[in-house]
Amino acid sequence: MTVNVNLVTLALVDVLVIGAGVSGLTTAVCLAEAGYAVRVCATRLPRDTTSCAAGALWGPYLVEEDNRVERWSFETRLALELLHGAGVGVRLVRGIEAARSTVEPPSWATTLDGFAVCRPDELPSGYASGWWYRAPIVDMPSYLDYLARRLTAAGGKVEIGVVTSLDEATTQAPIAVNCTGSGARTLVPDTEVTPISGQLVVVDNPGIEHFFAEYGHGPELTYIFPHGDNVVLGGTALPGRSDTTPDPVAAAAIMRRCAAVEPRLAEARIRDVRVGVRPSRPMVRLECVEMAGRHLIHNYGHGGSGVTLSWGCARDVLAIVNELA
Ligand SMILES: Cc1cc2nc3c(=O)[nH]c(=O)nc-3n(C[C@H](O)[C@H](O)[C@H](O)COP(=O)(O)OP(=O)(O)OC[C@H]3O[C@@H](n4cnc5c(N)ncnc54)[C@H](O)[C@@H]3O)c2cc1C
Repeated sequence: MTVNVNLVTLALVDVLVIGAGVSGLTTAVCLAEAGYAVRVCATRLPRDTTSCAAGALWGPYLVEEDNRVERWSFETRLALELLHGAGVGVRLVRGIEAARSTVEPPSWATTLDGFAVCRPDELPSGYASGWWYRAPIVDMPSYLDYLARRLTAAGGKVEIGVVTSLDEATTQAPIAVNCTGSGARTLVPDTEVTPISGQLVVVDNPGIEHFFAEYGHGPELTYIFPHGDNVVLGGTALPGRSDTTPDPVAAAAIMRRCAAVEPRLAEARIRDVRVGVRPSRPMVRLECVEMAGRHLIHNYGHGGSGVTLSWGCARDVLAIVNELA
């Protein structure tokens, strides 16, 4: 059921978080655990968001363009590492990132546990360079469920509702946080937010323990992320597309590319096909603006790295709220 947020009683809420993807939930958890009364309002519940469609391998992106990204990524990696083995969908996995041409590994990769340049015989056919490291990979359906439980345990609430304007949101609570992902394009409105649709395929795990991720930014990237009894196979990145209907031709191509890297996947049973819309923006928008004496904090535009940046960004929002309180 969808209700207009005007109909919801928010009088006792210190902070209204708009959005229940990984950005909204992580932000809400940080705020609620710090003692704020938090209500999350979202058109889509966590399992129906783009966040639930993510792969999701931790890895910094656009580091050169935005010097905040490295710190946000680092903080998130430490937070995710603490959840390894806790049964909440986070695993620390060793694997290979590889490029089809000869490239140097990014500097952040060389600092990771287990970093080593691949020997030529360790690379799949068609790849010219690559490197090993250990990083968190996140089974998003389980992890979003965990964040929602953690929020509830800290006293926060999630409810379905549409926020039709940011003016309206700031009349509902003294502080509102905008974590609407692609929704920010119309809600703010912010034309710098553009959709990049992505599809992946989930299959039974035929015994894969290491991840594989293709290094690059093409529309068709090959990746293999093992999550226990299932493996997430990727993927696509189609700029300008916001259609979330699964494409069987793209799914078959993903299966073919991944089987070329890992032949055990050729006969794997398909469990699911997931499609999401990455909220692309030249830079993440994380800042506080004043609206008629009330405060609105933006936290959106995380592109293909929303999971990787989630805890770092959420803690920056908490720091802003602490200053305002
Ligand atoms: C195929 C694929 C693979 C990916 N792989 C990775 C990966 O390996 N690593 C990684 O770090 N990232 C990855 N990503 C990117 C990641 O999924 C996104 O960056 C992240 O999900 C963005 O999260 P978000 O919470 O900002 O937005 P979303 O998950 O889109 O959530 C937005 C929320 O805002 C709500 N909302 C929007 N407008 C309104 C409104 N007006 N009123 C109320 N609610 C509203 C929505 O209902 C939703 O609840 C991948 C993405 C895709 C599609």
